[in-house]
Amino acid sequence: MRCPFCQAQDTRVIDSRLAGEGEQVRRRRECAGCGVRFTTYESAELVMPRVIKRDGTRVLFDDGKLRTGLLRALEKRPVATEAVEAAISRIRQRIRAAGEREVAASDIGEWVMEELRDLDQVAYVRFASVYRSFEDVSAFREVIDGLERMPDAEARRRQIGLLPDDGDDTP
Ligand SMILES: [Zn+2]
Repeated sequence: MRCPFCQAQDTRVIDSRLAGEGEQVRRRRECAGCGVRFTTYESAELVMPRVIKRDGTRVLFDDGKLRTGLLRALEKRPVATEAVEAAISRIRQRIRAAGEREVAASDIGEWVMEELRDLDQVAYVRFASVYRSFEDVSAFREVIDGLERMPDAEARRRQIGLLPDDGDDTP
């Protein structure tokens, strides 16, 4: 790259190492023209798509909001922080994988509900009651009925064999 001091085109890298949590590369460069040394940082550009709200407006994806929504639903529930972080990162991956530059807020809401359903059913119902803003008792009952028709998360994971041996007596 060009030297920021004398604009010479010829600069060389004299040192290169990981920075931050390893998501950046820090490089020391030296200008062949004026001899000055300077530092550059390189990191991947991970652009999150914009979110289309129900009223059609577009907003920047807000990671803090996603986290707050999940944590509020999970308040005082017996769910490990690690499991919550893993769920958040799966949701982020789905948002990013949506590929397009925009993703519907309602899709994100459904993905959050899917994760919560596996994490904790009380949190799931809490989130659903806010997110779907139940207008009457029957809408609420539908969500509860839907839960009852499903095997619990652990049983499902066992069925598809994703759960490592956790010491119980099922084969
Ligand atoms: Zn220079």
